[in-house]
Amino acid sequence: MIKVVSLDMDGTLVSENVDDFIWNEEIPRLYAEKHNLSLEEAKKEVYAEYYKQRYIDKVKEWTSIEYWLKFYNISFDEVYERLSNETKVFEEVLEVLDYLKNKYDLIVVTSAYEDFMNVKLNLQGLKSYFKKTYTSKDTSTGKKDHFLFRKVLEDFNITSKEIIHVGDKHYYDKEVPESLGIKSYLLDREGKGDLKSLKELKNIL
Ligand SMILES: [Mg+2]
Repeated sequence: MIKVVSLDMDGTLVSENVDDFIWNEEIPRLYAEKHNLSLEEAKKEVYAEYYKQRYIDKVKEWTSIEYWLKFYNISFDEVYERLSNETKVFEEVLEVLDYLKNKYDLIVVTSAYEDFMNVKLNLQGLKSYFKKTYTSKDTSTGKKDHFLFRKVLEDFNITSKEIIHVGDKHYYDKEVPESLGIKSYLLDREGKGDLKSLKELKNIL
């Protein structure tokens, strides 16, 4: 019997285009301001730095927005407003959570930076639906990996057959949880996954 429904956040509950915008536009813009550069110059430098750290220095944290904010000495407050104003909760989400909340324990399992998660889950009262939230910081590996899902099973004292996971990334939301035997559903709003909308969860559960 399913007791826990685990949901990814970015691309599943809320839009994730703002994150890309922060990477590609906001960080260069704030860097330009701090160093008195044109936006074009700043973009050139910042993009080159992304490339260098990713492909040449192979810096492990290159995917972490938290790392880059620190690297460029940008405080979270400087990106807060845009993040909060431009992230959208997908239209079916509240209705589905309302349906699920009395039947299951709902949790979020995300690789998002914790401050970003808190901003996004504050939108439309999302946070109140979730019994617990997990970010990749909750494991010693710092990744949304099987250790994180294993921690969920331990915390809720359940087996892998008593939980399902839903998310939009094939590797992190399907391969990883399924490696522990957790039934997982790939959400793709274009129709190339297991689910096209979270509404379909009502038929599965
Ligand atoms: Mg996602």
